[in-house]
Amino acid sequence: MSEGWRLSEGRRLSLSKPLIALVTGAAGQDGIYLSRLLADAGVEVLAGVRAEVSRLVAGAPRTSTTGPPTDAPRTSTTGPPTDAPRTSTTGPSAVEVRAERASKPRGRLAYLDHPRITVIDLDITDTAAFAALLRARQVGEVYNLAAQSSVARSWDDPRTTAAVNADAVEGMLAAIRHIRPATRFFQASSVQAGTSSPYAAAKLAAEGAVADARARGLFAVAGRLGNHESPLRPPHFVSRRIARAAAAGDVLDIGDLSPERDWGHARDHVAAMPLLLRLGSPIDADICTGVRRPLRDLAHAAYRAAGLPPEEYVVEVGAGPRPEDPASLGGSPDVLARATGWRAQTSIDALMAEMVAVERRRLESGVEDDASYGGFGSAGGFEARR
Ligand code: NDP
Repeated sequence: MSEGWRLSEGRRLSLSKPLIALVTGAAGQDGIYLSRLLADAGVEVLAGVRAEVSRLVAGAPRTSTTGPPTDAPRTSTTGPPTDAPRTSTTGPSAVEVRAERASKPRGRLAYLDHPRITVIDLDITDTAAFAALLRARQVGEVYNLAAQSSVARSWDDPRTTAAVNADAVEGMLAAIRHIRPATRFFQASSVQAGTSSPYAAAKLAAEGAVADARARGLFAVAGRLGNHESPLRPPHFVSRRIARAAAAGDVLDIGDLSPERDWGHARDHVAAMPLLLRLGSPIDADICTGVRRPLRDLAHAAYRAAGLPPEEYVVEVGAGPRPEDPASLGGSPDVLARATGWRAQTSIDALMAEMVAVERRRLESGVEDDASYGGFGSAGGFEARR
């Protein structure tokens, strides 16, 4: 199954056996980095995105979802790579697929343009669709990255947060147990799990579902992720707002900058996920740097990268920390390091320099999404920048 993974000297993953992996939430920050990492390592990636995202490929509404793709050879997924990612709903007609492949991918799908990545519609709350996919494809690994991932938003919509971040996980694990019990499952949990928010409660419940599944014999693990950022963070997240303000040369006035978090780079953190799934037996582990720094340090790093004096541009007035926000949050990478050799590689100076540089390109070009922002070469290669 997952045997054959190894992390080479150059920190690249390689694989000795063919493998199909499903990545949920594949148009999110981590989903993009992980899909590219797996595909570059030779894995056939089913990149699950919600229908409204996958529609961006064709730019037109879909008309049919007639059943899951199968492992039988299909003309729609063979042949030379095109410049659009291969796309499938839970069963588009051949005509639909041809129309989509003639189009250049747009929006966040631009990052998933790789010959070994197939974009599929998958809302993880639709357990029946997930089960159908498991029946149809020999999925060896599932990386569940889909989530309502904003703590702040979870207060506004606790129901959706619980449905996506907890109930759907239980549903997927039950389907795996009944249909394809050899499939290995990675759950993206959080160092927030167990703190006070609907997001944290749902992540903790999902960890419980993973533990139950493991007790029933599944290879299921939860990786408790610390904060990790990148140019591919959606715009409403604080690190993107900081990078944007620094790149624009604006004063940063977003309130309290004292909360301490464990800041890492998404590219580093996703590399830990397949390593956890290749262990001889499943363990849960923190995926983080082990160092906590105040948000202020992130802001100062961004302005230094922009060549602007932070003490003149970063102001801290107004609201104090939200009472529900923990003053300090982090974890320890030691369990993971001992088990897999993984360690975070990117300093916050390097992280913010990369984010500010990409933000400048966005401001100059007006283009929000471009594969190069993630460091992805046009031929599907991955250019690491430290
Ligand atoms: P993102 O918000 O960038 O990506 C999550 C993706 O999940 C989005 O593309 C979102 O789509 C999608 N999604 C939401 N609901 C559903 C659904 N019902 N079915 C299918 N897809 C859905 O988050 P990250 O990539 O940053 O995080 C990945 C995982 O890691 C998440 O589980 C997150 O909670 C966890 N995590 C992340 C941390 C971080 O610092 N980044 C820290 C700790 C944990 P849409 O945009 O359309 O809503």
